[in-house]
Formats: sequence, structure tokens, C-alpha cells
Amino acid sequence: MSKIGLFFGSFNPVHIGHLIIANYMASQTDLDKVWLVVSPQNPLKEKKTLARDYDRLHLVRLGIGDNPLLEASNIEFNLPKPSFTIDTLTHLKEKYPEREFALIMGGDNLATLHLWKSYELLVANYDIYVYKRPATELGDWASHPRIHLCEAPMLDISATYIRECLRRGKSVRYLVPDAVFEYLQGSSLYRS
Ligand code: ATP
Repeated sequence: MSKIGLFFGSFNPVHIGHLIIANYMASQTDLDKVWLVVSPQNPLKEKKTLARDYDRLHLVRLGIGDNPLLEASNIEFNLPKPSFTIDTLTHLKEKYPEREFALIMGGDNLATLHLWKSYELLVANYDIYVYKRPATELGDWASHPRIHLCEAPMLDISATYIRECLRRGKSVRYLVPDAVFEYLQGSSLYRS
């Protein structure tokens, strides 16, 4: 059974920090592949700086290029919004019964994991691959059999920083994959 790691994010836009984590997880753990799951715009929480769902998905596809270990997913675009991770996982299990799904998250997320919808069900039924972030405090999770701490390289860049550079007309070369850089060069995304 192939094991897929799900890396959720708004990817607004995708950057090399995301891709380094995704590729690390797909190549240095027992995960066979990683899907970058693009979170759709929440109609109740409209955010001006959030690019349209399909633009962000397109950028993720461009960023992945021909890497066979990674895939872009729009699975949440047609699910009820806002989407809760546990519901997305249930949907995926029904749609792909021959696959096993696992979660990928930054260590900073562990501090609030107990606030997620049905988190007990989540940690009881799914492996969670955690990569270290500056604020990682494992606490009680350290000994949980489903939580796997991974030593992926940390990169101090964020989509917020990239949007800010673009808005100010500054170069984001090397912060995003070349294909994403080139696409953004010829587009008005994030510029105003
Ligand atoms: P923003 O600055 O808009 O909040 P972001 O760069 O943090 O965006 P998200 O789309 O929110 O990007 O990220 C998806 C996931 O990737 C989140 O869990 C986030 O914590 C993580 N992430 C973001 N940047 C990095 C990075 N440089 N290294 C590792 N993980 C990252």
C-alpha cells in the first residue's frame, strides 16, 4: 500500500521552504509521495492578499515541475468550507481506499493540535511527520507512537515575505523555484 504524506497550506505563493520540506519527507522517510494540498479561500474569511485558488494551485504545479515524488492537490476545493483536516482525511480514505495517508506539519503546530477538530481521532489513526521549527516544543507529544520527529533543514522564509517583496517590486529569485519566479515576473499577482 503506498503511503502519501499530506502537506497542507495556503501556498500563497509556494516557496522553496515548502518544497524542501515536502521533498525531504518524500525522500527521507517511509512516505512514498507527498501531496501539497492547497487550502481554498474560506468565503467567510475573505483575505485580500490571498490569490485565487487556481492561481495558487498552478504555482504549486509549476514549483513541483517534474519531481515524481511530489504532487499538487486541489482535493479541498470542492469540500465544505472551511475544511477540517479530519474531514479531508476521511474523504481521501473513501476516495483512495488502496492508499494510506499521513500528515506533515511543523513543530509549532503541535502546541495547538489539541484544538483541532477530532484531534484524538487524528492522532489515533494517522501518522504525523513533524519537522522542527523555531518554536517546536514537543511536550507530551514527544512519546506519542504516531508522532515522528524529522530533522529537515529549516529555512527562514515565508510566503508573507515573498508577497511583500513582490508588492515592493523586489526580486524573489531563488526564494521560489525558477518556474514560479518566471511566472510571477510576467504576472500581476501579488503586485498590488
Ligand atoms: P504565510 O507567510 O502567508 O503565512 P507560509 O509561508 O507560512 O505563509 P503556508 O502556506 O501557511 O506558508 O505554509 C504551509 C505550511 O508550511 C505551514 O504549515 C507552514 O508552517 C509551513 N511553512 C511555511 N514556511 C516554511 C518554511 N520556511 N519552512 C518550513 N515550513 C514552512
